[in-house]
Amino acid sequence: MRKNAGRYHRQTAAIRHGQRRTAEREHNEPIFATSSFVFDNAEQAGGLFGGQTKGNVYSRFTNPTVSMFESRLAELESASHCVATASGMAAITGTLLALLKSGDHVVASAGLFGSTVSLLTTVFDKFDVKTSFVSMTDPKQWKLAVRPNTQLFFLETPSNPLCEIADIEEIAAIARKAGALLVIDNAFLTPILQRPIEIGADIVVHTATKYLDGQGRCVGGAIVTDDESIHEKLVAMLRTTGPAMSPFNAWTFIKGLETLPLRMKLHCTNALAVARWLQSHPRVKRVHYPGLQSHPQHELAKRLFTGFGGIVSFEVRGGKYEAWAMIDGTKMLSITGNLGDAKTTITHPATTTHARISQQERDRAKITDSLIRVSVGLEHIEDIIADLECGLEKVGSGG
Ligand SMILES: *Cc1c(COP(=O)(O)O)cnc(C)c1O
Repeated sequence: MRKNAGRYHRQTAAIRHGQRRTAEREHNEPIFATSSFVFDNAEQAGGLFGGQTKGNVYSRFTNPTVSMFESRLAELESASHCVATASGMAAITGTLLALLKSGDHVVASAGLFGSTVSLLTTVFDKFDVKTSFVSMTDPKQWKLAVRPNTQLFFLETPSNPLCEIADIEEIAAIARKAGALLVIDNAFLTPILQRPIEIGADIVVHTATKYLDGQGRCVGGAIVTDDESIHEKLVAMLRTTGPAMSPFNAWTFIKGLETLPLRMKLHCTNALAVARWLQSHPRVKRVHYPGLQSHPQHELAKRLFTGFGGIVSFEVRGGKYEAWAMIDGTKMLSITGNLGDAKTTITHPATTTHARISQQERDRAKITDSLIRVSVGLEHIEDIIADLECGLEKVGSGG
């Protein structure tokens, strides 16, 4: 195999990094559709099972296609380790299981993904891991929430669906002082637009289901870290609990990563155009997008991000029924809770993605009934805007 001349540009790494060709000289990364691996002899089997030699044994532990995906994503996040999981939620659950024990305390941002909130407030709470929810835009609150047993900080930035931004550098400094690990859910920006590990985070969790795939095909996740001892704890937990990524899904995500830099660029361009257009629309009360000058943290976004992402949320004039009328009035946009897709998607967070959390939790996260989230896709910008206009025509001018 030809050697790398050095570290590639991120755009190149997305296409080339981590590929290991077999003796068949295949150009494309192959799918190793096998549950287990065979050994030359009993001694080799013993060495691999015992961990004295490294290599594939069983696909719940490692699989060559999955390893190629892990290696490529780690490189994009500027980290040395990655372990893939069956879903984004499996990545988050695995991280918490590996790093926390009963009696520990977590500080988390209030604007988390709905299932992550449920995971902390129902599942982990049951095992006596308590969570304090604080504002991601106010680092002082993180400092004040620290207890002697605080082991972990968890946040998602920008937040879903309001696009609030956390100053990762500042919160990382607070975590370090408290002796807590900082975990960032980097689903919205991907390593193309924000690299938390470069600015102080210990762990990045991903849902590969969103932008990494980018075409709505597979569910998957990953945990990235630059710390070998953390990685070993994660791997040990995941091997035992079993949420492994399938080789087929890993292959799909490898293909997704190849076009990720290119796709993120157009997601950003289209989203900014949509946000600006919505901002000037009389039936829209408020637009949340970090790329707008009116975003309260626009300057911070410019410092931390290399692009503002593809998610725009906005409030229509009115309440739930006006928001529903707007969504139902669109013709092309996909009504789905999924995001990060080539297809533009539209959803009403209060009754879908954030429906299962309590009203109190929704209020805390500022998910109002008039809020709509759009994950701006890769269609022609004029078609996206024309369809949003179709929807807004249904809102009515009152309210
Ligand atoms: C979708 C999502 C998850 C969960 O990922 P799955 O692959 O659906 O399990 C976690 N965090 C964020 C920010 C998400 O958008």
